[in-house]
Amino acid sequence: MKAPTSPSTTARRGLRRSVLWSLLVLLLLVAQSLLVALTVNYEATHSQDEIEAIGGAAALQMRRELLQMLHQLQALSWSEPEATEWPPAALHLMRSQPELLRVERRNAELQATAFVDSPGHAPLFSLMSRRDLSVDTDQACLSAKRQASPRFSRSYFVPMVDGKGMEVVDLCIPVLSAGRPDGYIVGSLGLPLLLDVALTPAQAQRTEISLIEGDGARLARAGGPRGTGVFVAERLVDLPGTSLRLRVDSGAGRPSLIPNLTLALVLGLSVLLFVVVVLLARDVRRRAQAERALAEALSRRKAMEDSLITGLRARNLDGEVTYANPAFCAMVGFSLDELHTPVPPYWPPEFVEQYRQRQVDRLGSVLASQQREGFETVFMRKNGERFPVVIYEAPLLDGQGRQSGWMSTVLDVSAQRSMEELSRQQQERLQASARLATVGEMASLMSHELNQPLAAIASFATGSLNLLESPDAQTLPMLHQALERIAEQAERAGRIIKSVHSFVRRREQAREILGTDLLIEGVLPLVRLQARKSGTRVEIDLPRRVPHVMCDRTMVEQVLINLSRNAIQAMETDTPLEDRVLTLRVRQHHAQWVTFSVIDHGPGIAPEVAAKLFTPFFTTRAEGMGLGLSLCRSVIEQHGGVLDFTAAAGARGTKFRFTLPAPRQAESRAPVTADS
Ligand code: ADP
Repeated sequence: MKAPTSPSTTARRGLRRSVLWSLLVLLLLVAQSLLVALTVNYEATHSQDEIEAIGGAAALQMRRELLQMLHQLQALSWSEPEATEWPPAALHLMRSQPELLRVERRNAELQATAFVDSPGHAPLFSLMSRRDLSVDTDQACLSAKRQASPRFSRSYFVPMVDGKGMEVVDLCIPVLSAGRPDGYIVGSLGLPLLLDVALTPAQAQRTEISLIEGDGARLARAGGPRGTGVFVAERLVDLPGTSLRLRVDSGAGRPSLIPNLTLALVLGLSVLLFVVVVLLARDVRRRAQAERALAEALSRRKAMEDSLITGLRARNLDGEVTYANPAFCAMVGFSLDELHTPVPPYWPPEFVEQYRQRQVDRLGSVLASQQREGFETVFMRKNGERFPVVIYEAPLLDGQGRQSGWMSTVLDVSAQRSMEELSRQQQERLQASARLATVGEMASLMSHELNQPLAAIASFATGSLNLLESPDAQTLPMLHQALERIAEQAERAGRIIKSVHSFVRRREQAREILGTDLLIEGVLPLVRLQARKSGTRVEIDLPRRVPHVMCDRTMVEQVLINLSRNAIQAMETDTPLEDRVLTLRVRQHHAQWVTFSVIDHGPGIAPEVAAKLFTPFFTTRAEGMGLGLSLCRSVIEQHGGVLDFTAAAGARGTKFRFTLPAPRQAESRAPVTADS
């Protein structure tokens, strides 16, 4: 078992735990913030990349469109100016290229000689004349002439009839005739229409596309939504003679905190993680508290077990010792490690077989699992000394209620046994002294009693001798009579001596079943002997069906003699002669108990005397030893009975009562019956 931790160690651990937990929470917060930031950033990057890709593709598409246009217009320039097929070819071209709004043929002096307007649009120069809006076109054509290659003009705004107008750029292609410059073909392109073809329909729904000038002013726009200005990509579309800045602006704004499922998921998981960590922390805290409480309970239990003076021993189902408390180890003198052997070292070698058998019987039987009373046995200390123990065994149950072994309480009763032996010896000695005291008393009584028959014998003998000196006819019958008297008196004296002798001699300790009449008869001669001295009458009151008792005859006779003697002595002084009656009564009110009463008409017992009555050596008589009643009580108690006293039923006197077990007695102590 672990040693209990000191308060400072506990505080240190608590501090370390809270620091670690704070660090964990901090790390989690940082990790989660980073995760959210990265996710938001990823979203932004992704949107930006997407718009860049759209921008690149749109620029490419626009450039491709313009170059295709250039090629087709060049193809147109190869046909003769006067050729009749030119206008239909131009019209055909404009139908396939909706951004082409007008095609002109110009002569070498930049004068428009012919033109075709797109059939899908209102004529471009209906509000303002071509001439007024031709500056940029003229410059492009001059430059094309110089370079001898097609050139685009700068864009310019053409107001139109519906009040709107359009930003237009012209493509001027020099026409050569026989290797010499011979006019131009000019195509006017509507920039918004050009933008329409730069985006796919899907892109056009999410993106705004526009062409802008160097200062940021917008020339033309297309696409579904208005751009938010957050995700913007710009591309330069380089064209011969000019360049156009293309701007693609996503309709989507900055990603909000939960812009989509991914981020929501990340955030949700983060929150979940945080909740789990909080719950985990709470669980860990509770667990730590429970652990602390458990450790405290364990150390308290260990302290309790260690301070027990009773031996505790646990065994598994094979009978091997699995645990023993310090008191048990101290009792047998073996350490816990030494006890882990198949045969316990504290079994005396001569009893090993017997104990093994007993263990098999006890531990194996179902009965043993319910049996809680102790049994006495002998163990051996390490120094070889044998000593008696009382063992209380109970089944050891595990958490599921299954029996996993046996738990025993072991009491070393060697001190108790030697005390009992000592007390038994003392008791025996006391009883012997009391018996001798009684005998002494008897001897004096006997001398008094024997006096009479001996005096009678002596006088009859003298009379007989006198008769023999002068014999006559009457002598023989008188002598016969005298000798008969002598024999009678001698027999009487013999009876007196025998009664004392048999009382002194009887020493058997064994309990026997006896009729109560026999008990009374056994003590009667001695009681009468005492009673006669003070002129006390002795009355015997036995029921018709004489009850039997189970007792040690000698001891109970002594109790009866003591109580009778006390009763006679109590009546000796103050009780009038006619009231001096000693009653010995026997009753059975209970199947298992027989009650004896010794009743006198003496002065009774004063309360101060009553308190000390059963104390050894307490006496109120000068010649008394004060042992009688205390011995009587211990004799009766040894039989399982009770001895007490009350005032007698009449005007004065005392009644001493005691109970003795009837044969086949029960174990309980008998109550003294109300009347007996
Ligand atoms: P002992 O007879 O040697 O004095 P006991 O133990 O027999 O010792 O009696 C103790 C005392 O109890 C007696 O001295 C007496 O005072 C009192 N006692 C005992 N029996 C009676 C009785 N029947 N009536 C009055 N007093 C009694």
